[in-house]
Amino acid sequence: MNPNQSAPKGATSLFNGSDLSNWRTREGGTAEWSVDDGAMTVVPGAGDIVTQETFNDFQLHLEFCLPLMADAKGQARANSGVFLQGRYEIQVLDSYGWDVPGKGDCGGIYDQFAPLINANLPPEQWQTYDVVFRAARVNGSGTVENNARISVIHNGIAIQNNVEVEGPTGGALDQNVAAAGPLLLQDHGNLVQYRNIWAVELPEVGSDIYEPA
Ligand code: MG
Repeated sequence: MNPNQSAPKGATSLFNGSDLSNWRTREGGTAEWSVDDGAMTVVPGAGDIVTQETFNDFQLHLEFCLPLMADAKGQARANSGVFLQGRYEIQVLDSYGWDVPGKGDCGGIYDQFAPLINANLPPEQWQTYDVVFRAARVNGSGTVENNARISVIHNGIAIQNNVEVEGPTGGALDQNVAAAGPLLLQDHGNLVQYRNIWAVELPEVGSDIYEPA
């Protein structure tokens, strides 16, 4: 929740602040966003970048900073995105000051769920997403029994409260919701920055112990 909050014990750091050695392109090539001062910046045209690590259920922390694009409107205004398992986009956009954010605005589960509250800071400031993700549950015959669920805390405010997604959002890496998936950050042509990205894998269920011995 705090800007530049350090990763807790047991977390997987997904960005070391100095290079993109644990990232790749969608096609598996070298990730070519720029890295300076502990932050990565979208290089327009270099494409989305994807972690080598994959996850099932997890908690995620990341920080983003949006460029000021005073003359740009709507989806053209500092657009990027954070795709959980490479399949479900939490929109990244400059939606600062909008009274009623919609399903395509910052913090929206893209085209499915608008953020409950507009928690945006102005551009050119670091903002935080803290996310809890529960992967889809798929039975032995491949039927989805429960869709994925997502909670998002944006700058310390709950904006997605355990929403059950309808399925992957547009631009997903694949539709195989039963498989673990990576984190994907979107190149939407704007100079969005990210830093301090870490995840904690969560077990699917806790133990059945009532009291430890
Ligand atoms: Mg986007």
